[in-house]
Amino acid sequence: MSTLAEVLARETRRGDLYDTLPDGRLRCYACGHCCPLPEGAIGVCKVRFNRGGRLLVPWGYVGGVQCDPIEKKPFFHVHPGALAYSFGMLGCDLHCSYCQNWVTSQALRDPQAVSPPLQVSPEALAQDAIRLGARVMVSTYNEPLITSEWAVAVFKEAKAAGLMTGYVSNGNGTPQVLEYLRPWVDLYKVDLKSFDDRHYRQLGGRLQPILDTIRRLHAMGFWVEIVTLLIPGFNDSCDELTRLTEFLASVSADIPWHVTAFHQDYKMTDPDNTTPEMLLSAAEIGRRAGLRYVYAGNLPGEVADLEDTHCASCGEVLIERYGYYIRRYHITSDGHCPSCARGVPGRWGTRFSGQITSRPFVPGSSSRLAVLRM
Ligand code: SF4
Repeated sequence: MSTLAEVLARETRRGDLYDTLPDGRLRCYACGHCCPLPEGAIGVCKVRFNRGGRLLVPWGYVGGVQCDPIEKKPFFHVHPGALAYSFGMLGCDLHCSYCQNWVTSQALRDPQAVSPPLQVSPEALAQDAIRLGARVMVSTYNEPLITSEWAVAVFKEAKAAGLMTGYVSNGNGTPQVLEYLRPWVDLYKVDLKSFDDRHYRQLGGRLQPILDTIRRLHAMGFWVEIVTLLIPGFNDSCDELTRLTEFLASVSADIPWHVTAFHQDYKMTDPDNTTPEMLLSAAEIGRRAGLRYVYAGNLPGEVADLEDTHCASCGEVLIERYGYYIRRYHITSDGHCPSCARGVPGRWGTRFSGQITSRPFVPGSSSRLAVLRM
């Protein structure tokens, strides 16, 4: 029987995102680590490697598929109520001890993380998404940057079928990977986990490539939303949150910022869970920094009106939510506040098209997905 790493080493294709250095090593640009890889070496992500002077990258499978309400990603300013057909591969370039997707993200580092890969084609994924009524195709669950060649292949089919596309990412990007993605990715969510480089180094990354990526994403015209999981004692100081939100406001005050509640998970079981009061204070810091659209997540019904979208001029409630459920939709067909006519940044349809589900579900009869033999 093969190991998971051996199985995945077979499911590869030559990558696009690399150069050959003068000394013969390969420089991968799929994420901010920019690994220089000598012959036979594997990247920090454990899924891209140099074999025979070619960079081989993951291809032809998913670690999992799920249908999520788009509010779960979370995108709050994109077609509220839409179904987001979500797939992930395996592996990550970071190793956060509180990861909520550790079964797929840490599959190659942690023997407890068992997630059998499923063989599938890009066409089959797009057809399955359409069959289920999805409006958006999203690469998520593992870090999509490290599997960008596969994501682009899937997104080409998704776009041909009329779907929007999105990344749910840690934002550890490079200029090269963002240029590569720009024609095929509409929406980009970044987890901005901290504003302290020492914290990022604990997670296996650096702060600066993530800040650079956020600025680039906005400048390049991706629709960007940012999430910060608020972890008591890790990233919740007033000073850190002030610097973080002032940075976001300096990129654009129109970027939605979601501050969400931590619950004990994976290897991070020491900090207490985040309380509603902690979310409310963090949201206040974001508002003081100038952000116009601040949301509190993961504690439905406990965070006052911080699940709702308000007009930034007159305060009118434009979208009322409970968790992922859309209670009321009140934006004009051309994306404005009906009371004062101020434009609302985002990607809106001409009307609210209903909601297929407000809870995630696994597509039961997607028979085109086959478990890879170990
Ligand atoms: S994706 Fe990132 S971690 Fe993986 S090989 Fe490329 S640069 Fe290294």
